[in-house]
Amino acid sequence: MNKQDIIITYGSNASLMTKALMERIDIETLLPDKNASIALKPNLVVAVTADSGATTHPEIVVAIIEHLQGLGYHNISIVESAWVGDSTKEGFRVNGYIQISKQYKVPLVDVKDDAYVKKTVDGITMEVSKTILETDFLISLPVLKGHCQTAMTCALKNMKGALSDRSKRLFHTLGLNRPIAALNKVRAADLVIVDSLNGDLDFEEGGNPIQTNRMFACRDSVLCDSFGASLMGFENRDIPYIEMAQQLGVGSTDLAKAVMIQLNEPSDEVPPRPSGRANYLGKFTEPDSACSACYGNLIHALKRLDEVNRLKNVKQQICIGQGYKGKSDPLKVGVGICTRGLGKSLAGCPPKAIDMIKFIKELE
Ligand code: SF4
Repeated sequence: MNKQDIIITYGSNASLMTKALMERIDIETLLPDKNASIALKPNLVVAVTADSGATTHPEIVVAIIEHLQGLGYHNISIVESAWVGDSTKEGFRVNGYIQISKQYKVPLVDVKDDAYVKKTVDGITMEVSKTILETDFLISLPVLKGHCQTAMTCALKNMKGALSDRSKRLFHTLGLNRPIAALNKVRAADLVIVDSLNGDLDFEEGGNPIQTNRMFACRDSVLCDSFGASLMGFENRDIPYIEMAQQLGVGSTDLAKAVMIQLNEPSDEVPPRPSGRANYLGKFTEPDSACSACYGNLIHALKRLDEVNRLKNVKQQICIGQGYKGKSDPLKVGVGICTRGLGKSLAGCPPKAIDMIKFIKELE
């Protein structure tokens, strides 16, 4: 796997999807030393299960461990820290990590109990987990989801779990963006496998998951977040830490140079009816057998339009889904290749939320 590659897979079986990604990544080329230490860093920001849209699906962690151990890597640990005020150990417990640790003989490291090393970048001094700093190969397993302060969280922000609670508090007083970029200059993941199965629409602690049935892998955390932002309908400038990280030399925001490797077609499993905050956004859609990734992107696009008060300009429902294949109706508009027979249609399978926003604005 090259630095500019983004490998994407669709489906609803996290275990099979992870195995497919791991096989395509070819870890033995990236990490020839079978004795190297490997840390898996899931997102367990709060002690809730993955169906909430907040935390990494544990099946992903298990599939990676099985893949690595099958190749002869045995120096593996799972390292994480919940946000200030929550217990990492409880997050490990409710997500089944105690059993995973016993079954696969993989230690759990609660960063809140770890030793820290002080590092300074861009004038910001932070306490970073010694275990994470010393690990030979760090695999970050973020959830692509909304965040109430930084709009989005993915690979770059997932590194915040490598900090002491004192440094996490400091980061908030400094506004998060500059410190997150600086932290990734200290230590960025060597490989990122993104859980984009059902990340939350707008909060890192979950509660309003949006089914997108997608996972993707990158080696460059900046490229990873640039891609994640586009899937959620954000420009990079909406998430300042992405460009700050690029300026510090952490990685590249240049999606035009990214090599997209799509392992399979989007799942045709129909997403559940949106609930909660997403429910009213769903009223602007006319789905018919829409794939989850497509429909989830449309919900994110409508959310972005709502945030800038432009939803009121959407005068007709946006058609989406495989049920529109082969249909023609000059009066309807739709997103995705399946709707190409309609009066106006956005190409893509699935189109990104950022492209859906542009398309919907042009309908005004
Ligand atoms: S364009 Fe059609 S097939 Fe492609 S993701 Fe959307 S609904 Fe699924």
